[in-house]
Amino acid sequence: KSGFVAIIGRPNVGKSTLLNQVLGQKIAIMSDVAQTTRNKIQGIYTTPEEQIVFIDTPGVHKPQTQLGDFMEKSAMSALDEVDAVLFLVNAEEKRGAGDNFIIDRLKTVKQPVFLVINKVDAIHPDKLLQVIDQYKDAQVDWKEVIPISALNGNNVDELLGELTKLL
Ligand code: GDP
Ligand code: MG
Repeated sequence: KSGFVAIIGRPNVGKSTLLNQVLGQKIAIMSDVAQTTRNKIQGIYTTPEEQIVFIDTPGVHKPQTQLGDFMEKSAMSALDEVDAVLFLVNAEEKRGAGDNFIIDRLKTVKQPVFLVINKVDAIHPDKLLQVIDQYKDAQVDWKEVIPISALNGNNVDELLGELTKLL
């Protein structure tokens, strides 16, 4: 079983932290410098049964320049070439313009898109449903909604399990 998975989300939602948690080492680059780079393979999760190639998807700001626009388009085009997409959001923050910009793009993605609510360790458990509710009317057919903590690894195995099912 093998496949490609793209991780997308606005800056600081925890994309690199999730990759580090999954890969078990400091492979992903934990900074916004990623915004100036193209899509790249950030790491390969390998077990005897499966291999998942993770692709960090940078540059999801509204582009201000022509170069930015070009990089934006190339980053976003990766979303059509993977087997699944993880859309990461920050449970601590309200759905904002940055999320909506990505959601607009996700509407046209044919592959399964997972809504991954990250940083659940930082919110009161009672708040989780309110966070999820914000994404119900997004017009994206979420394959699954999965709350995680990329930082402490909570529920990350569950996420990997769901991905493996698709491969
Ligand atoms: P990226 O820009 O999406 O790659 O975000 P990073 O992985 O660089 O994380 C941004 C910040 O959020 C860092 O300070 C992380 O330590 C923090 N962070 C990431 N995941 C979690 C989480 O699950 N819980 C908490 N409390 N903080 C997190
Ligand atoms: Mg990052």
